[in-house]
Amino acid sequence: MLLKSTFQIKNRFKCTIRVWRTIHNLSVPDGKTYINGKWVAAKSGKTFPVLNPANGEIVANVPDCGDEETNEAVDGCYDAFKTWKNTTAKERAGFLRNMFELQMKNSKSLAHIITLEGGKTLAESVGEITYGASFFEWFSEEARRIYGDIVPSPFKNRQLFFFREPIGVAGIITPWNFPNAMITRKVAAALAAGCTCVIKPAEDTPLSALAIAQLAEEANIPPGVINVITTSRNNTPSVGKRLCEHTKVATISFTGSTAVGKLLFEQSASTVKRVSLELGGNAPFIVFNSADVSKAVTGAMASKFRNSGQTCVCTNRILVQEKIHDDFVAALAKAMQNQLKVGEGLKPDVTTGPLINENAVRKVERHVQDALQKGANLILGGKIHSCGKTFFEPTLLTNLKKDMLISKEETFGPVAAVMKFSSEEEAIEIANSTRSGLSGYFYSEDISQIWRVAKALEVGMIGVNEGIFSCAEAAFGGVKESGLGREGSRYGIDEYVQIKYMCLGGLD
Ligand code: NAP
Repeated sequence: MLLKSTFQIKNRFKCTIRVWRTIHNLSVPDGKTYINGKWVAAKSGKTFPVLNPANGEIVANVPDCGDEETNEAVDGCYDAFKTWKNTTAKERAGFLRNMFELQMKNSKSLAHIITLEGGKTLAESVGEITYGASFFEWFSEEARRIYGDIVPSPFKNRQLFFFREPIGVAGIITPWNFPNAMITRKVAAALAAGCTCVIKPAEDTPLSALAIAQLAEEANIPPGVINVITTSRNNTPSVGKRLCEHTKVATISFTGSTAVGKLLFEQSASTVKRVSLELGGNAPFIVFNSADVSKAVTGAMASKFRNSGQTCVCTNRILVQEKIHDDFVAALAKAMQNQLKVGEGLKPDVTTGPLINENAVRKVERHVQDALQKGANLILGGKIHSCGKTFFEPTLLTNLKKDMLISKEETFGPVAAVMKFSSEEEAIEIANSTRSGLSGYFYSEDISQIWRVAKALEVGMIGVNEGIFSCAEAAFGGVKESGLGREGSRYGIDEYVQIKYMCLGGLD
């Protein structure tokens, strides 16, 4: 109600800011971020606006931090690590459980924040908050199961021990497409292991990061354990470099594009830092002749159009075997027409919100134009939506070819592009013909084929007869140029621990 009435007032600029403060009962003043347990402005006093992608309105102003604030945050975080690493696993589990409960208690307002700054539909934002909270829950449980080893010694008078120790300060750099869950997936694992962290959220979506900091404050997580450096895109390269090159930062955990991931990897070499990278994908979605077409369409709708096509595991190339190609395309077109409704994410029946910004729309347009020029057939959509310049029509293309941009790069928009293939070998060859290897999907009712194809696909994660596979228990991550390391699952902790070997001698 509050949201509706404030939006109706004429001065929408100020009102949206009021909405952001009110929906989360924020005590956080505009223009402040969270460093060493205090809400502070940038030293320069500069701020940058956070825009609602649906209408371009300013949602809030946040500090434009730079190297100075980054150094301050890292120093405080390093000091906090000295104490945090000595808390018991049970104590850390308790803090994380509190974070889980607080996030769930505030799920509606946190979801509003995601929709306001990221454009995602409210239903999907609520889903993200539940998903994000599940990492606090999962790692609160994992925190108490970080065991070392006692290894049989080849010497009678010595004992060999392996300890799993927290690695230290984690620099956490996250994207805009899951502004809550991409942070909680890292922070929960880091804190469980005994690490402390400095978070640098995306310029487009810093408010979700600030909201997490506020929950941490409420959960009585000690000052310095969680810090947030908000930066405009101008300051980002310098802040990123500082985190990578700082000797007090032990690990960089990054989720974002492959290009930026490679840069951070390179920058971290000077201090031989641990780096975990969750990068871009180019997911194939293969439908074999043996598939249940209706199930495949359901899966394609979910994996293609979630978050308006802006997830790293979104289907990018749909490969359909000859015999069922036309049936599949007809059914997918029908589902798109019947099920997708474009509009502002806050409206209840909308399924497809805006893209994050106009640059994102330009990329989608470029991909569609390129495909059409190279011989693709336009079945549905194809242009900017009448809702506004950040909205794109759900689009269906057939006759996708290997040389089209859609085949080579992530489109990151609501465009389903279908390619026809004849044999299983051909489908695997096409699916693997990219340097990306994050996720893939295929539909088949033939058990031998399921086994063969699952083994042959060069990806880190596979959905077999399933379009959505993310959960806290999943070992999330890619191969090839889609990343290094795993998040979530029991492997998520490994990114934040190091092995210490101790040989205890003189036991005669
Ligand atoms: P991006 O441009 O790489 O940005 C990601 C983060 O890196 C943002 O915080 C961004 O800050 C920051 N950044 C940009 N340039 C930097 C630099 N020179 N030094 C340090 N930090 C820098 O990616 P995006 O467009 O936000 O996100 C979409 C990409 O993320 C897609 O490729 C998607 O597939 C990938 N992704 C992967 C996963 C996964 O788990 N594998 C999950 C979600 C998304 P600014 O916002 O200030 O530029």
